[in-house]
Amino acid sequence: GARHRAEKLAVFAGALDSDNAQRLTLMNDLRRAIDSDELLLMFQPKLRMHARQVSGVEALVRWKHPERGLLGPDQFIGFAENAGLITRLTYWVLAAAVRESHAWHGAGHAVPIAINLSSHDIRDRQLFEQISRALETWGGAPDWIQFELTESCIMEDLSIARQVLTQLREAGFKLFIDDFGTGYSSLAYLRHLPVDYIKIDQSFVKDLDSDRESAAIVEAIIKLAHSLGIAVVAEGVESVSTMEMLSNWGCEEAQGYCISKPISGRDFQSWNKAFV
Ligand code: C2E
Ligand code: CA
Ligand code: CA
Ligand code: CA
Repeated sequence: GARHRAEKLAVFAGALDSDNAQRLTLMNDLRRAIDSDELLLMFQPKLRMHARQVSGVEALVRWKHPERGLLGPDQFIGFAENAGLITRLTYWVLAAAVRESHAWHGAGHAVPIAINLSSHDIRDRQLFEQISRALETWGGAPDWIQFELTESCIMEDLSIARQVLTQLREAGFKLFIDDFGTGYSSLAYLRHLPVDYIKIDQSFVKDLDSDRESAAIVEAIIKLAHSLGIAVVAEGVESVSTMEMLSNWGCEEAQGYCISKPISGRDFQSWNKAFV
């Protein structure tokens, strides 16, 4: 009856409350994390295949949560976007990456660091200024950093994406379309975008050496990109045989566990020294 319904409602409200409370705690935690030293960057190398040379690294953020341990981006990036904290997180990543780059340049590792932008970032009118400021602080140039934007982020608002990409590219930054192949876009729109590379999503690359369909898709994407004057990176390369297939198809760059997992900045410097 009515009493039962009231009880049910109370339980429901309680659950909502604790949900909200949890979200609020996480939000305060993340806000604190951005201002303190709880976030850290890992770096995953990219290889220019024919030259057997490191072409750059990708910065991948982690959260060293005091109670929950080390959290991966999948556990908090979506949350940061919904909580309106992604802009500040991106600024933190930018500053940390440029500081790292400065240290690397001083030690003879002039390797560009790619930063992942979220769909909120391209609507941020202060983004460009923040990038310039970060570089100015450490005496950096546009070849210190690169930007990765996912295909779905670009498709979400093509006209804004095109404006931001154009501005960044004119300033001298290299641009990558990330997770390519997962955004359900027609390939024709590529033609109108000022980008240097597409990164083929790892879901197509992973079983390339054992799955005919993946192989056919990847080969076709590489051909298409090249016919449009766009270079290709394959992500999620886990085996030497996959790397060989990609190389035979003319894919310029590869990234994946077969080359290196994401590692700390310090480890990257020794890895890079040993690699060269
Ligand atoms: P992503 O940009 O597609 O990054 C590649 C992810 O695949 C990374 O996971 C990387 O560790 C993993 N990976 C790399 N090579 C291999 C491989 O050979 N095999 C397998 N199985 N996995 C591989 P991670 O670090 O957990 O990052 C997940 C996602 O979080 C990233 O996907 C990116 O979209 C996002 N992300 C990471 N850092 C940032 C950031 O600073 N800002 C924003 N907005 N997003 C970020
Ligand atoms: Ca990426
Ligand atoms: Ca990716
Ligand atoms: Ca991916």
